[in-house]
Amino acid sequence: MVKYQSGYEVPPVSRHDLRVYAKNIRNNLGLSQAPYFPIVALLEAMYPMGINQDIFDDDDWNRKFGKAKHAVYSLTDRIINIKQSVYDGAVADCGRDRFTIAHEIAHALLLDGHNVQVAKSRGTENIPVFKDPEWQADCLAGELLMPYHLCRNMSVQDIMVQCKVTEQAARCQKSKF
Ligand SMILES: [Zn+2]
Repeated sequence: MVKYQSGYEVPPVSRHDLRVYAKNIRNNLGLSQAPYFPIVALLEAMYPMGINQDIFDDDDWNRKFGKAKHAVYSLTDRIINIKQSVYDGAVADCGRDRFTIAHEIAHALLLDGHNVQVAKSRGTENIPVFKDPEWQADCLAGELLMPYHLCRNMSVQDIMVQCKVTEQAARCQKSKF
């Protein structure tokens, strides 16, 4: 198993690719017409793929991963590690916590499986954005939580309310439509 690290280059995917991928995930879950995506339920739906979750008590988390991090995907263990308060926030529909978990799920989906091989890049500065795993994870998370086909005519306010995301996330996604 390749250990995932930031600064690695992954095979290129476009926003369009990720939009189609997100739509397929929604279709498979019967959520093609639902603006609200139950991101915590998707965590559980990933068990059959061999991707598990581990929730850490906040104090343990801070010692192990540091306060700056909220969740981390480990490709080696195929585990999405999540800080307890972030998990609880996502359950309570806190937009920031929902996006954090969507971002890690996106890493798991994009870095897992045979279709995506993680390749070491020569340097972090020259990675085109569509090969940057962080860009890909943010993009897929955005497309999952705020799908183009449902949100393209919504206001930022509507996207925030209906998709349970932050204003910043809604503005960012709307700018991509
Ligand atoms: Zn990330």
